[in-house]
Amino acid sequence: MPIHEKSLIRPENLVTHDQLVIDGVDVSGHWSTFITSRTITDYNEALQDEIAALPGGEYIHRCWQCGSCTNACTVNAIEPDFNPRYWIYLIRQGLEEELLRDKDILWQCVSCNKCTYACPRDVVPEGVMKATAHWLELKGHTPKSPSTHFDEGFTESILATGKIEEGRVLRTFFKRTGQPLNQPWLVALVTGLVRRFPIFYLARMGFSAVFRPRTRGWSRTGAAIQDYVNERQAEQRAALGLDVKGGH
Ligand code: SF4
Ligand code: SF4
Repeated sequence: MPIHEKSLIRPENLVTHDQLVIDGVDVSGHWSTFITSRTITDYNEALQDEIAALPGGEYIHRCWQCGSCTNACTVNAIEPDFNPRYWIYLIRQGLEEELLRDKDILWQCVSCNKCTYACPRDVVPEGVMKATAHWLELKGHTPKSPSTHFDEGFTESILATGKIEEGRVLRTFFKRTGQPLNQPWLVALVTGLVRRFPIFYLARMGFSAVFRPRTRGWSRTGAAIQDYVNERQAEQRAALGLDVKGGH
């Protein structure tokens, strides 16, 4: 029997009576709060499999709804509507429409992993949150989040050269998220670096930014990793019933 918090029931489905007697028993007041019955016809029976096909969602089937993840959750403490246990319940039941009601807060997970340490069933709820946010993006229910833009720029940089180019990753991130480069904190960081770093390092950073040196022998390694990434993304898209060739 799942747990139902009153806050999770739509207000229009709650019925209360100030005065009510049933079979001679006075159940007036909050005792007479009823949930109207309804018929759900829009199940996505594949929803759990779709989430399980994405990185982090693999162990969602183990959940026994104890609620320890939500109790431990950093975000839930300040935003009661952020409820990993409830979303896992919805996913396992295939209640896609209900899940989509929370699509604008589901991505707020801060990846602290407190839920993961609290979970007695090794569900890795943090991974499930990540997989669900990824699922929302892949299905087109939400735009790409800033963290997805960052991950993509980071991965592209490594695949291209075998190196992490912080400057390029940052520039790509700002461009894709529509942010100006002259962020005050970035200006302060660069100014501080220029003042403190030996000229040799600064020259080396400038050289790397312009010429993008590659790790030796990277062509074959990078191509092999790219093939693997393409393969996994095609598998994930197929599991979600999406066009396998679609971009990510
Ligand atoms: S990882 Fe996310 S879901 Fe888990 S406790 Fe932290 S904020 Fe909550
Ligand atoms: S702590 Fe684990 S088993 Fe308990 S509700 Fe959360 S995910 Fe499910």
